Amino acid sequence: MADTIFAKIIAKQIPATIVYEDEQALAFRDIGPKAPVHILVIPKKEIARIADATAADEALLGRLLTVANEVARNEGIDKSGYRLVINNGKDAGESVPHLHVHLLGGRALTWPPG
Ligand code: AMP
Repeated sequence: MADTIFAKIIAKQIPATIVYEDEQALAFRDIGPKAPVHILVIPKKEIARIADATAADEALLGRLLTVANEVARNEGIDKSGYRLVINNGKDAGESVPHLHVHLLGGRALTWPPG
């Protein structure tokens, strides 16, 4: 079993503010929010990053996006708008090697990111 901080959150070994959970996915608030709403949607399956996903993961990857949509609705930002981000590797600033989709919203977001 991988020893990432997100694996520990999935295993409930460390606390997180969980806003959604099912058999395949978990969503919890980012500990260092970059927007009024900043939630991470992760697969329970250990996939280090999007580059490591395979064709066998396609349904799971789709599930992460529909979970993100559902969480956005629950957070009340579906009409105002939101952004989904996946950081892959060093140049993208990936810091936790367990796949996660950032859900950001609640304010006007600038584009492009720095
Ligand atoms: P990334 O830089 O794309 O790998 O994103 C990792 C994110 O995980 C960052 O936005 C961190 O603030 C967040 N993070 C790290 N540790 C925790 C934690 N224990 N609970 C919630 N979010 C975390």
